[in-house]
Amino acid sequence: MRVKVSDLAIGEVFYVDFEEEVTIPSNFMLSDEKSLLKVQAKLTKFTDFVMLEATVSTNINGNCDRCLKPTGTGLNFSVFEKFIEEENDEDEVWLYNGRVVELNEPLAVNTFLHIPMSLICNDNCLGLCHKCGTDLNTGECKCDETGDNQFSDILRGFFPE
Ligand SMILES: [Zn+2]
Ligand SMILES: [Zn+2]
Repeated sequence: MRVKVSDLAIGEVFYVDFEEEVTIPSNFMLSDEKSLLKVQAKLTKFTDFVMLEATVSTNINGNCDRCLKPTGTGLNFSVFEKFIEEENDEDEVWLYNGRVVELNEPLAVNTFLHIPMSLICNDNCLGLCHKCGTDLNTGECKCDETGDNQFSDILRGFFPE
């Protein structure tokens, strides 16, 4: 999304709601790099800069950390960004050409920052058996039994009857 701000007077506020598919910076969790963002944006023009305040909602796709099945989650977050015309030593600002503000990259970066560290398909997901890989949500495996037997065999070695 590009918003023309050159016609705005100082102190003028511009509201725009839009949907935009943006490319999210690559991340190991994402099976798909594009995300459709629903954005409600408010741009305010000041003498030396343009301020963006926005709320964003989107869905991201990935794989469950426990069972590895594809899953997804909704994200809702706020964005505050400042756009300036000339580079200075201020951190965390975006440059714009004085006429048009480009919103996609700042929105993509903000989306990336809100992706949760871990994704699970549901709170009760039992995950995969770490020995045989069976999905414990859909079936049981014999690993626990065998494990127990091996363990008691070892114990028996330490404490002969
Ligand atoms: Zn799962
Ligand atoms: Zn198993």
